[in-house]
Amino acid sequence: MSGGMFDLSGRVALVTGGNGGIGLGLARGLARCGAAVMVAGRDAAKNAAAVQELSALGAKADSVVADITDEAAVGAMVDATATRLGGLDILVNNAGTNIRRRPEEQRLEDWRTVIDTNLTSAMLASRAAHPHLKRGGRGRVINNGSMLSIFGLPFHIAYAASKGGVVQFTKSLATAWAADGITVNAILPGWIDTDLTRKARTDMGGLNENVLARTPAKRWGDPSDFEGIAAFLASDASAFITGTAIPVDGGFSVQG
Ligand code: NDP
Repeated sequence: MSGGMFDLSGRVALVTGGNGGIGLGLARGLARCGAAVMVAGRDAAKNAAAVQELSALGAKADSVVADITDEAAVGAMVDATATRLGGLDILVNNAGTNIRRRPEEQRLEDWRTVIDTNLTSAMLASRAAHPHLKRGGRGRVINNGSMLSIFGLPFHIAYAASKGGVVQFTKSLATAWAADGITVNAILPGWIDTDLTRKARTDMGGLNENVLARTPAKRWGDPSDFEGIAAFLASDASAFITGTAIPVDGGFSVQG
């Protein structure tokens, strides 16, 4: 896929949570278009496996162990990318988590974990990456939101608050950095088959049937469904698109 209007050769990407699930799908899309890719996650073994997979695609790939809720670790993650791969042009704020609770049983500790992982981390990483993104004059930030950036679900108040925040963060950051040639966009995944939702399938009876019934495409999404959107939003092809949130959901959000 290298070459053409989605060519990313010579560019460097950092994908948080790039060692599995949707993040690895996004990383594969960038790698296939010629970007050098740094994957970040807490699990060194998963990081190493992702690097192997991306390298097999012919990409330059590396990894860094980082907990993105830790401000110092986020700074070190960005520095490691710029030092080891020679810059940073594309930041993908993908890592995320969910802790389901009834609202009346919401624990402050869990609330903070979800907000810090899903929302605050995107601010920390973007802030640290800004000097690098600005340097090339065509920086890219891609934030991972959710259908819950738009809709509500009863046991997901922290997750929905964080993901709603991701979209508003995306819009404001886009206005701030457009003059630097940096675009900032969000993706809104529907129901995707990953570790995150495999756990939810076990916890939430009937989820599989509900997803299939309410998704017009009549299937769960797969991490490979994110390769194309990563290539598009990272490339020059999307240079005049900023501050938007694009569903990748098999039509789920059209039906509501
Ligand atoms: P996975 O559980 O498969 O992946 C989560 C990723 O985030 C892992 O790579 C994990 O790496 C990383 N991660 C989690 N916490 C931290 C942390 N504190 N520091 C660093 N890395 C962290 O889930 P998905 O691929 O499904 O989720 C990816 C993103 O997509 C999330 O933002 C999620 O909210 C979003 N999303 C997913 C949907 C779905 O249906 N699957 C739907 C809508 C949105 P490690 O374990 O090594 O720390």
